[in-house]
Amino acid sequence: MPNSIYIHIPFCKTHCPYCNFTVKLDHTGKLFKPYIQALCQEINNRTLNQDNNLIDTLYLGGGTPSILPIELLQELFETLYSVFKFSSGAEITIECNPGTADEHKLKDFKKLGINRLSIGVQTFDDQLLQKLARGHNVKQAKDIILNAKKQGFNNISLDLIYGLPNQTIQSWTESIKQALELPIQHISCYGLTIEENTPFAKIYTNSQNPLLPPEESLEKMYSILQDLCSENGFEQYEVSNFAQKGFESKHNLNYWKNTDFWGFGVSAHEFVNGKRKANTQNLEDYIKNPLNNQELLETNPALEDFMLPLRTSLGLNLKDYEIKYKINLLAGKDDLIRDLLKQNLIKLENNYLKITPKGFLLSTEIIGRLMP
Ligand code: SF4
Repeated sequence: MPNSIYIHIPFCKTHCPYCNFTVKLDHTGKLFKPYIQALCQEINNRTLNQDNNLIDTLYLGGGTPSILPIELLQELFETLYSVFKFSSGAEITIECNPGTADEHKLKDFKKLGINRLSIGVQTFDDQLLQKLARGHNVKQAKDIILNAKKQGFNNISLDLIYGLPNQTIQSWTESIKQALELPIQHISCYGLTIEENTPFAKIYTNSQNPLLPPEESLEKMYSILQDLCSENGFEQYEVSNFAQKGFESKHNLNYWKNTDFWGFGVSAHEFVNGKRKANTQNLEDYIKNPLNNQELLETNPALEDFMLPLRTSLGLNLKDYEIKYKINLLAGKDDLIRDLLKQNLIKLENNYLKITPKGFLLSTEIIGRLMP
């Protein structure tokens, strides 16, 4: 049984024009309570008569989980603590957006046992934040981080996005520098992708759009990020993630190791006993019937066990892979391996195949070329 739990909270203050997640704007909050009740029902029922493992990581993602009133989070945690036993050093993360958690709420998060915050800052440029319609400004972003520190949080991550419309190299560099001056231990950085059926898809119809930074700028932004993080003691441990030593996200590391995890809530995915499943994406349907609405997804363990570890700096254990799948990943690829090694895009170390920091920028292409 899994040692990790993911819980999806679908509510947000605004719907950011680039986001294609299952998100519900509920300014009155009238769906909050029914949703938490449905979630608790799902957790209770699906874990009934199970021999549950000790939980090492719990991740509340969304959406914006920090939007929920503390009483409802309490209700959810009471259910979780009654169903699962948590290990003493369990990592318990909540995603927060600036402007949704003041000092009191942050203090209450601590009381619930939450010990890690993942804060959606995205950029420290007010003009860009306005274009992203995030509903917060730079001051609010800094306030939540400083308040969290004041309340005793010492495991704080923030999200940044590069490749935003009108974003310059200078603005990006400034954002990273400002992030690194704050009391944080972890940074996740993603390049903007223009997702179908989003307002951004209508505006920025193709990647040649002059408002979007060109490919060369994106490469430059990524390498500036790598350099500044490394100079400031943030090690790159995955394509998009950087952390001070000991502050790597245990929850995400479990995903990349392709280990089991529970998933509860609307649109939540899970991987339990070798089966990958997804809950319905329809919030009303989920609230009405939080049970028996899971869909079985296809899995390809050999492919997942190949692709996921290669995203991390630890890399892929070739020997273990060969024992498990009877596939020698390097066989017949001499020229390709030599070429990638020569370009310093991969390295081979003690039976591990690793993509180098230089290679991370091209990780999708490299993984594609090395595919079994
Ligand atoms: S806050 Fe996050 S989840 Fe909510 S709409 Fe914006 S990007 Fe999507």
